[in-house]
Amino acid sequence: MRASELLMPTLREVPAEAEVISHQLLLRAGFIRKSAAGVYTFLPLGMRVLHKIVRIIREEMDREGGQELLMPIIQPAELWQESGRWDVYGPELFRLKDRHGRDFCLGPTHEEMITALVRGEVSSYKQLPLYLYQIQNKYRDERRPRFGLMRGREFIMKDLYSFDRDEEGVAVAYRKMFDAYCRIFQRCGLTFRPVEADAGAIGGSDTHEFMVLAESGEAALLFCSACDYASNVEKAALPPAAQPEENPAQPIRKVETPGRRTVQEVVDFLGIRPQNLIKTLLYRTDQGVIAALVRGDRDVNEVKLQNVLGCLRLELADAAAVRAVTGADVGYAGPVGLGETRIVADLEVASMANGVAGANEDGHHYLNVNPGRDFTAGFIADIRTVRAGEPCPCCGAALEEAKGIEVGQVFKLGAKYSQKLGCTYLDENGQSRPVVMGCYGIGVTRTMAATVEQNHDADGIIWPAAVAPFQVVVVPVNTKDSEQVSLAEDVYKRFLTEGIETVLDDRPERAGVKFKDADLIGYPVRVVVGAKAVTDKQVEVRLRRNGEVTVIPLEQITGTVKMLLKEA
Ligand code: ATP
Ligand code: MG
Repeated sequence: MRASELLMPTLREVPAEAEVISHQLLLRAGFIRKSAAGVYTFLPLGMRVLHKIVRIIREEMDREGGQELLMPIIQPAELWQESGRWDVYGPELFRLKDRHGRDFCLGPTHEEMITALVRGEVSSYKQLPLYLYQIQNKYRDERRPRFGLMRGREFIMKDLYSFDRDEEGVAVAYRKMFDAYCRIFQRCGLTFRPVEADAGAIGGSDTHEFMVLAESGEAALLFCSACDYASNVEKAALPPAAQPEENPAQPIRKVETPGRRTVQEVVDFLGIRPQNLIKTLLYRTDQGVIAALVRGDRDVNEVKLQNVLGCLRLELADAAAVRAVTGADVGYAGPVGLGETRIVADLEVASMANGVAGANEDGHHYLNVNPGRDFTAGFIADIRTVRAGEPCPCCGAALEEAKGIEVGQVFKLGAKYSQKLGCTYLDENGQSRPVVMGCYGIGVTRTMAATVEQNHDADGIIWPAAVAPFQVVVVPVNTKDSEQVSLAEDVYKRFLTEGIETVLDDRPERAGVKFKDADLIGYPVRVVVGAKAVTDKQVEVRLRRNGEVTVIPLEQITGTVKMLLKEA
């Protein structure tokens, strides 16, 4: 490709709206352009990277027996009503009506669609297992579309669904996909980690997320410094709790704590330790307002809390709702005398003796609150967030924390969807059984962004060769020197003959401008054809990753570049 004919609109300025580096660089280097919040056009360079990633994914899916198909983006509401998710999915679902008033949605995911397809086509155990996948746009009206391709409202996903006769079958599929995902992200040149994850709204049991390690990641991970335990913080379990100290129950006592609302203010005022405070948070849920109790030095893990309650929606109650339930300001809520409000106590709170809690009265707290005696929790469960430094639930060594970008997730779904949608097969004995399913997603466009997050420097992107839009850029230094130009043309043509994806930067620009663009766009290899090419038949080869420059004889150029690309 000749740069003079390529649509590669690079920008010198950092676009103001772009917070994270991948967003900035993909805009600046001319890979994407925004059309609406979370909706992007892929320019030719961006499209080439997408093709590279898609090809890797396709190869690895096919290798494990995946069969590619393409389902519609527009999905009838009836399918979602059958699975029960039409009412549950919430405002993230893009809903629309056709001219007859029939309800549809834009597919955020395709469990319903594929299960309905398979129920129509599969009837016998002889047709199983079946692994079906597609690579296609998905639509989610995210609350906060941001970070460019990282969290879009329209994005590309690879979604594979496995159909098996039983749990053993889906375990095999899960393993295959897990391994394929490791190969895919390795081939993309990413440093990643599979972590245990929460199954969330999609349902099912076993699930892992594939996390690309990056500071800009929205997910917090915990991993063990000694064993291979790794988990999303949302899911991270607790090691068995230590026995509480001996501390005989004292009579409960109300004290004045005027203006002391936060944990720190109450702790300082009463001269207690935060571990002795019962932090009470009120949440509004589809099951009514509930109170969640954790120790003063802990945080509520809302994912765990939601799972304990089995509720569909959960959000912190606002000041008015808190007053309506407790009769007091935020900061004075406590579990004693809460009436009908359901209480969920963290394990640590349940074993606390003589704790301090809000008195549900402005400016007052209770001392010597004892669970069981002074209040009753409807649920006692692990609902707190585990932090770095706490012991690993597997081996007890200290946990470490990292940030990650979720680029993929694998799920065992079991019979959740097949049962609801009536996707069954006849076994060897002619008995009807629900198909056992798994689903496996990769964010293709997010993977592109994650690759940039991990591979860049101050000058621009550093594409791993496997996903680079072009492998090489050939730059004639002086486009007014016809000999240089013709030698550069010659190198360019030789590369093309060898199948090396090359851009010839034939634009009538200064060399400095071309070098800047080359670094910004991030071609793995740059070949400079300058005065020395004419006088000494020598060209300069530079590696983007480490800036290493070598001067080599012109006739060796193809061999050298091929070797460098193999290493990259
Ligand atoms: P998140 O927790 O980040 O919102 P998710 O867990 O809801 O993602 P899945 O339903 O597991 O997403 O979708 C499979 C993959 O699709 C994710 O692992 C992620 O890589 C990608 N993905 C999900 N939502 C988006 C989005 N809004 N923009 C870009 N990619 C996304
Ligand atoms: Mg996910």
